[in-house]
Amino acid sequence: MKLLFWGATDDVTGSMTFLKLPEGEVLIDCGLAQGTSETEKINDIPLPLNPKSLKAVFITHAHLDHSGYLPRLVRKGFNGPIFCTPPTAKLMRIILLDSATLNEDDFYNKQDVEKTLHMVKTYEWDEHFEFAGASARFMPSGHILGASSILIKAQRKSIIFSGDLGRSDDPLLPPLPPAPSADIVVMESTYGSKIRSADMKKDLHSFLATIARDSRIGIIASFAVARAQTLLTLIHEFHEAHPEYKVRVVMDSPMMKEANKVYQQYSRLTTKPESLFAALDEIDAIEYQKEWQSLKNKSGPLIILSSSGMLTGGRITRHLANWCDEEKAILFLPGYQGKGTPGRAFTEGRRDFKGPDGRVSVWSGEVWTSEAFSSHADQKDLTEWVSHNQKSQVFLLHGEFEAKKALKQKLEESNSLKVEIAERGQEYSIN
Ligand SMILES: [Zn+2]
Repeated sequence: MKLLFWGATDDVTGSMTFLKLPEGEVLIDCGLAQGTSETEKINDIPLPLNPKSLKAVFITHAHLDHSGYLPRLVRKGFNGPIFCTPPTAKLMRIILLDSATLNEDDFYNKQDVEKTLHMVKTYEWDEHFEFAGASARFMPSGHILGASSILIKAQRKSIIFSGDLGRSDDPLLPPLPPAPSADIVVMESTYGSKIRSADMKKDLHSFLATIARDSRIGIIASFAVARAQTLLTLIHEFHEAHPEYKVRVVMDSPMMKEANKVYQQYSRLTTKPESLFAALDEIDAIEYQKEWQSLKNKSGPLIILSSSGMLTGGRITRHLANWCDEEKAILFLPGYQGKGTPGRAFTEGRRDFKGPDGRVSVWSGEVWTSEAFSSHADQKDLTEWVSHNQKSQVFLLHGEFEAKKALKQKLEESNSLKVEIAERGQEYSIN
């Protein structure tokens, strides 16, 4: 076998790693690079292999930075199959169809996405399957619904790809089991330098209580898949525990509603009962223009959950524009705000933004942020995940340089592992 590192080598986006198996080459994840226009130029770099010659793609989870390049690969001649777990297939459908509406038509369109979705072949966790002279299986990786690590074995060697790893205290998903031992481990390192201390429940509760107590307007910026289900669950639990705080909650994102349904369908893979996800279906959702019109003049206490999570698009800007003169309104930005995004600009103190009609307005309300919201393992979780691997060769990906450096040092010291930071274009033969 031979590894060829490609995407997510410089930062945390556009995951793509090639693996040469005895009977052909496959790709592990096929993500879009997202962020500043500089980062997104990566999507135009020609791939090191002809997509027509690829035998298959394995997708660890549905996030756009792991699946969003698939329709482009298909447009360039890739002919399938695409392997993933059943919930990943469902969530990926929502994400890719949305992505087709955001991209330029010459990058990919809805037809490319439909074609891509027809190539998907699903396997359950721990189901062994054979491909290109190798055997493979998916296993849970926490992070978001359906997310998986992948173990591949061929020619008496084994390699594990972590995908994105979840946190040990995720509010919706069971804790992460340690990885089985393998000769080679390719792992993410997003929070390789951090041990998390902030508490998402506490941060959200203080926001919700403030909105309720002082009858204010709260706008939460959230990604529609995974982040929204975490937020909605925590909001639901807050209301159950604190009936004295009454807040009307409104969801403004059709994607959110669809993703809620997938979480409900696969509630057995979460730590919550099906009834909880069924309750999320009762939340007011804006589907028609007239519902939006009637919401426009409402006063607090009111919470609106809308996307995108970094204010880069979606419907959230219409709410910001509507309440921009309301000094008592609060914009809540839970989680990481990528460099170059309007969300990052808000966390750095800027208050001007472009509304849905392109007009620039200024937000006069407060802006609250929380660093607690993340679906990634921290340094302690990452170290424990790889603790059953004593003699493995480890490659680090998917992290900013400082995070990878810190994790490398930590794993070399505490787990006595051989650790390398992977680079774009680097090849490694597994003999
Ligand atoms: Zn992810």
